[in-house]
Amino acid sequence: MILNQYSESELSEAFDIDMSSVEGLGFGAGWGRVVPGAASQSHQHDETEFFVIVSGTGDLTVDGRTREVRPGTVVLFEPFESHTISNNGGTDLIFFTQYWRDPARAQDQARSGNSTGRTGRPQFVFSTPPTPNGDLHLGHLSGPYLGADVYVRHQRLQGNQAWHLTGSDDFQSYVGAVAERENTTPAEVAAHYSAEIAATLKAMDIEVDEFYATSVNEGYPEGLQRFFTRLVESGHVRPMTTPALQDAETGEYLYEVNVGGTCPGCSGSTGGNICEECGEPNLVADLAAPVSRLSPSAPKQTEVERYTLPLHEFADVVADHHRRGRVPARLRELAQRVFARGRLDLPVSHPSGWGVPPAQDDLEGQAIWVWPEMSYGFLHGIERLGAGRGESWSRETPSADWKIVHFFGYDNSFYHSILYPVLYRLAFPGWDPDIDYHVNEFYLLEGQKFSTSRRHAIWGKDILTPESVDAVRYYLCRTRPEGERTDFRRAEFDRACSQTLVGQWEDWLGGLGERIDRDFGGVVPDAGTWTGEHTAFLARLSLRLDEVTAALDPGGFSVRDAAAVLDGIVTDVRAFSRRQAALAGIDRWSSEARTAVALELAAARLLATAAAPMMPRFSARLAASLGLPAVSEWPDEVRLVGPGNRCTLAGTRFFSVGEPARDR
Ligand SMILES: [Zn+2]
Repeated sequence: MILNQYSESELSEAFDIDMSSVEGLGFGAGWGRVVPGAASQSHQHDETEFFVIVSGTGDLTVDGRTREVRPGTVVLFEPFESHTISNNGGTDLIFFTQYWRDPARAQDQARSGNSTGRTGRPQFVFSTPPTPNGDLHLGHLSGPYLGADVYVRHQRLQGNQAWHLTGSDDFQSYVGAVAERENTTPAEVAAHYSAEIAATLKAMDIEVDEFYATSVNEGYPEGLQRFFTRLVESGHVRPMTTPALQDAETGEYLYEVNVGGTCPGCSGSTGGNICEECGEPNLVADLAAPVSRLSPSAPKQTEVERYTLPLHEFADVVADHHRRGRVPARLRELAQRVFARGRLDLPVSHPSGWGVPPAQDDLEGQAIWVWPEMSYGFLHGIERLGAGRGESWSRETPSADWKIVHFFGYDNSFYHSILYPVLYRLAFPGWDPDIDYHVNEFYLLEGQKFSTSRRHAIWGKDILTPESVDAVRYYLCRTRPEGERTDFRRAEFDRACSQTLVGQWEDWLGGLGERIDRDFGGVVPDAGTWTGEHTAFLARLSLRLDEVTAALDPGGFSVRDAAAVLDGIVTDVRAFSRRQAALAGIDRWSSEARTAVALELAAARLLATAAAPMMPRFSARLAASLGLPAVSEWPDEVRLVGPGNRCTLAGTRFFSVGEPARDR
C-alpha cells in the first residue's frame, strides 16, 4: 500500500502557491497549500482534475464563476476549465488534488459548441470605438466591426448573452486636427462624423447595442475623472517631468498626429506615440529623426511635466492577465518586446485643450490622454448598456462575472492588451478582468494601405446598399485580414459576386426551386427511400456544420474559416445534385429521387443557418423561401425542411450584380 501524509516540509512553490506531489498512485496527485491572502495562478489544461479541501476556507473561481469552499468540499474541473483558488480565511487552506488524462473527455470538451465559461455570463463585445474624424471605409469595416458583429450574432444563436458595444472616441487629437483644417470646432467634427459612422454601421447590417459618445454622454467626464483619481490614488500614476518635443517655430507640444520619425522599436517610420508596423509605443522624445507636422523645422527637445505611469513595473501583472482569457500569441509576444525595452515611463496626460482634464488641478492645461481614457470608456459603455436593460452593471465596481471581448486592429494592441490591464489593476485592485482579444491586421486596397488623405479608399457608403450588403459582407468575411494582411481588389469582388454568389449559390438555389415547382407543385417533398449516397451526403453536411461551429467558437474564432464553409456547402451540394439528377423523372426510383431533393433542401437550410451570423439578410430571405422562420438558434444537427412547406426559391433573387453604388 501507499500511505502518504501531508507534510509542510515537502512543499515547494508552483502556480504561485505551495505544492508537493504524491507518487505511485497511477495518476497525478499532490497536496496544495494556499496561505492566508494568497491565490493560485489561474490556468487551464487538458487533464481532468479534482480537489478535496482538507482544511481552511477560500474562494474557487472556475471560468469566471466564484464559489466558496471549506473542508469537505470536492470539486472536479473538466479539461480546459480555467481555475484558481484563493484563501480568504485566517489559516492555511490545504487541499488534495488528483489529475489524469482522458483524451475522449478532453476532445469532447474542446469540440465546438462546448466552449466553457460563457453560458449565463454577460459578454460585452467591443469593437474599437472609431475616431470621428471621417467616415468608415472597407478597411475599418472588415476588421473590428464585422468581427464583433459576427461574434455576437453567433453567441446569441447559441443561447449566450452577448452585446456589441462601441462608441465615438471623440477626444482623439485627430478630431482636433480636422477641426483646425475645416475651421470649425472639434465638438462639431465629432458630432458630424459620429452620426455618419453610426449610419454606415447600420448600412452594413452591423447591429450595435450600445453606441456611446465620449464628448456628449452625460456623466462621462465626471466618471472618467473618478477613474483617473483612482489611478492617482494608487500612488503609481503621478506628475513626472520627462523629455518631450516641441515645434521649433510655434513652440507647440508635439504628440500623435503632429509628429513622426523613426520608431525606437523597429526602426521603421512611425507616427507619434504608437508604431503601426511593430505595434510598440514610443515616447515621442525617443523618435530618431523626428519631424514636426506643424512646421518644416526640426522639433526641439524639451521637458514637460505630465501624469506618468511607470509601466515597466507591471510585466508580471500583464503576464498574469495574459494567462486568463483568449490572448493570441502575437499579443503575448508584443508584451515580451515592450517589457524587454526596460524603463517605460508612459505619460497618461498631455498638454491639450481637447479632452477631459484630470480632477487634480496641479497640471494646468492638460487632458487625460485619450488612449488610457478608452479603458474607462469601456466600463462607461457597460454601465450605459445595463441602464437601458435594467441591469445594475456599474463602471465603479466591475464584476468578476463579466466576460469582456475586444476586437481591434493590431496597431491598437499595446493599449488594449498591455496598458489597460495595468490601469484596471491600479483602479480596481480586487478585479481580475477576464478579457478575450481578437486582433486583425491591415486590410489593403488594391495592394496599398487605405488612406483618407490620398483618397485611396472605398467608403462604406460607396458600396453598401440593401441589395449589395450581403455580397459585401460575404466578400469581407472571406478575405478579412486575420493573422496576415489581405487585399480588397474590386475586380475580384465583382468576380466573387457574379461567379460565386450568382453563378453558384443563386444558380443552384433557383434550379432547386424550379425542380420543386415542376415535380412537387412548389411544396417541400418528404424524404422517401434512402440510399448509401444519401446517408453519406447527410454525414457530409453534418461535418460542414461541425466545421462552421468550430470556426465561430470563441477560442478558434475565424470569420474567414467560417465563410469558407458556406462555399463548401454549396460546392458539396452542387456535386451531389449533379449526380442525383440522373434519376429524376424515372418512376421506379421516384422515392429515392424525393430523398435527394429533401437533402438538397436540408443543405439549403444548413446554408441559411450557417450564414446567419455572417450574412443575416440573406439568411432570413433564404429561410423564408423555404417556408421557415428566420434562424433563431444554432443547431446541433442538420435538419430536413418540413414536408409540406411552401418553397418559393424559384425566381428569388438573392444577390444583385452590377447595381450602381452611390457616387460620392
Ligand atoms: Zn515600430
